[in-house]
Amino acid sequence: MVNCMNMEKELRFYKLYEQLASETQIVNQKFDTSVIESILNEISAMFRLSKGVTHFYRNPGEEARGEGETMISYDTGKEGKPVHTVRFVTRFLSITTMTVYMAEEEEPLTEEELKKVDLTMRTALAFISRNRLQDIAEALAFYDDSGFRNIRSFFRYLSWKGQPGGFDGMAAVNYNLRHFALVNEEYGRTAGDKVLKNHYQHIEAMIGKNGLLSRLGGDSFVCICEQALLPELTDYLTEASVPYDDSGNTVTVTACAGIFVIPDGYAVMNPNDIIGKIIQAYRIAQSGTQEQIVYFSDTLLMDREKAMRIQKRFPSALRNKEFRVFYQPKVNIQTGELCGAEALCRWFHDDKMISPADFIPVLEQTSDICKLDFYMLDMVCGHIRKWLDEGRHVVRISVNLSRKHMLNGDLLKNILNIIDGHNVPHEYLEIELTETTTDVEFKALKRVVDELHQKNICTSVDDFGMGYSSLNLIRVVPWNVLKVDKIFLPEDEEKEDSIRRIMFKYVVSMAKELGLECIAEGVETPAQLAILRDNHCELAQGFLFDRPLPVEEFEKRLDMHNYLVSQ
Ligand code: C2E
Ligand code: MG
Ligand code: MG
Repeated sequence: MVNCMNMEKELRFYKLYEQLASETQIVNQKFDTSVIESILNEISAMFRLSKGVTHFYRNPGEEARGEGETMISYDTGKEGKPVHTVRFVTRFLSITTMTVYMAEEEEPLTEEELKKVDLTMRTALAFISRNRLQDIAEALAFYDDSGFRNIRSFFRYLSWKGQPGGFDGMAAVNYNLRHFALVNEEYGRTAGDKVLKNHYQHIEAMIGKNGLLSRLGGDSFVCICEQALLPELTDYLTEASVPYDDSGNTVTVTACAGIFVIPDGYAVMNPNDIIGKIIQAYRIAQSGTQEQIVYFSDTLLMDREKAMRIQKRFPSALRNKEFRVFYQPKVNIQTGELCGAEALCRWFHDDKMISPADFIPVLEQTSDICKLDFYMLDMVCGHIRKWLDEGRHVVRISVNLSRKHMLNGDLLKNILNIIDGHNVPHEYLEIELTETTTDVEFKALKRVVDELHQKNICTSVDDFGMGYSSLNLIRVVPWNVLKVDKIFLPEDEEKEDSIRRIMFKYVVSMAKELGLECIAEGVETPAQLAILRDNHCELAQGFLFDRPLPVEEFEKRLDMHNYLVSQ
């Protein structure tokens, strides 16, 4: 009977051991720990063991000090004494030990039993060590020093799911946190790291198990997620409050992103293909000429090609003087007098005229726009000097300067060089600037306007009301002129647009009370002119009076031309 019991136990043990050995022999893949655990549990119970503990030491010193990591693989909760230990030492002197315990009252292990326990422990330990090594290798290969997944893990994911349809319903995103250096500067490096980590963890939790997020480096990330999550993700990327310490203090983080909505059935032949698309879309987002979040599309590709053509042609166009200044008159609607003009750029190429809407946004992607603006200023100053020398009645001319100039610390010097080089009195010039979107630009903008102010050069806020104008912009910056965008003028004569009217009325009266000159842009119809009059806005610019004119045409307006402004 006893023999029969032993036989049964013996058979069961070998069956379990065989299972353990085969489970742990699966290479290139982690073994299923829950299966292994249940086998070890059963064998431990079979041999009356109370606990199994594994220790990992990086070196013998750690072992001597008892500092390594501990893993409990089996625990009945009963106290006990150690009955057997197996110890492995690797070539690099890292040490793994496994010890099993038995409760005092249990019958000690027989020699046969000890052999079986030893065999089981060695098999288990060999594979626990291998698995751990795999974990370490994986962490080194697929995570960076800060614990973020790296680009290698992203590539691996792309190749792994690269077969047709593998990405159905998914989207790829490349994003970069904006002005992150400022967070580091203002709150310190530790807080900066915390913000990065919290931002990363938030997105990782959002995209869940079906997605993947990796850091390309610095504050630049790539991610794959379900298309359904894009609204939530883009919302978070547009603006998020991210904690920078443990007390819940937060900083606002915004990002620029390029997104590729992966079409169904799409096969990733080469992971670089998806990366290339999201980077292209991201670059456009980052250039600041369009949205903060840009979706990749074929038209985007075509636009990109067009943009590249423009960028390539630009240097020779500038040399060949293909850019010309057109002047759009500004009119005093009470007297009909010409009271100023705006210099607007036109590009003549192969006898065709290219409109600024087509090339300005492209040139704004690089610093080419700055070269063009200085060229325009130079041409305008040349014209003013000529008109003054001819004894004409000269009016103040405004020149547009792109926001790109704000990064130029020598901007004032460059402007003065041009104006003074032509010997043009400063009061004949006005610089038009548009509102800014970030704190950094805002500070720079204020500095530029202050400096121009000191040099007696007029400045105007262009397109006020178009973007995200803040009242702070006119409170803090000493502008001379507010150019109210046409968005405040009702478009349709028939339709009464009371909201725009109310806003127009108060913008004009606020500007005037603050001592700013106020001019309405884009005045096209007599009805709009009447609105200006009703609201005491005396200055106007728009097609109703004149379109932007070639210089010869504009010179005729300078010669005491009076506009018809019947009351
Ligand atoms: P902006 O500075 O706001 O210039 C006014 C724009 O409104 C001009 O467009 C002008 O032709 C247009 N406009 C004038 N009156 C009317 C009207 O009654 N109705 C309508 N619908 N539009 C009117 P344009 O010349 O096509 O220039 C577009 C934009 O390109 C300008 O807007 C300016 O931001 C930019 N731009 C033009 N030349 C330069 C330049 O030399 N440098 C820079 N940085 N930007 C420039
Ligand atoms: Mg303008
Ligand atoms: Mg404007």
